[in-house]
Amino acid sequence: MSADNRLILAALDQESIPLEVKGGLPGLINELQDCGFIDTQLAQDPEQTFKSGKNFMDHISLVGCSPVYALDPDIEEPSGIVSFSPISDEPQFIYGSNSMTPKCPECREPLTHWKDLLAKPLQPCNTLKIAVQCHHCQQQNNLTSLRFRREAAVGRFFIFVHGIFPREAVPMDGLLQMLEKFMGSPMAYYYCQGK
Ligand SMILES: [Zn+2]
Repeated sequence: MSADNRLILAALDQESIPLEVKGGLPGLINELQDCGFIDTQLAQDPEQTFKSGKNFMDHISLVGCSPVYALDPDIEEPSGIVSFSPISDEPQFIYGSNSMTPKCPECREPLTHWKDLLAKPLQPCNTLKIAVQCHHCQQQNNLTSLRFRREAAVGRFFIFVHGIFPREAVPMDGLLQMLEKFMGSPMAYYYCQGK
């Protein structure tokens, strides 16, 4: 299978979803189209998927020595597209094939079996229904208590920018501030890969 490299935007407040007073998700999508971050819709279900807009590069900053971002949607290796997750009733956890093994918060030993109960990379898992048991001290750890730096995200709603390798690009401050207004929470960004 082809690689799917994603920059993930999510609210720091794990319960935040697009604010109704701002028009909910349709209001957020309208705003992102107006500012040229996204263009026309490509797919509807289960994620709403859009072609990246003409001002996309005003909102995302490429870093690294030879960054290139392919703006043409490519089905083999998704790029140049932005998608929006469904809004979940409860916080979801998303990790990537690049996520490092977390340590047990209690005994600091690596949780080597952490993926056993989880769905595949990039597939949301309900954070309230899954605990990761430490095989060293036996503690049951909630997914939200584990540290993944920028390699896993938690939230009820995610924005996925496809075609970005880990730490290859960062969202610009203006984009984060605009999203904050629509989500009612400061934003954070993550990098997850799937295969
Ligand atoms: Zn432990």
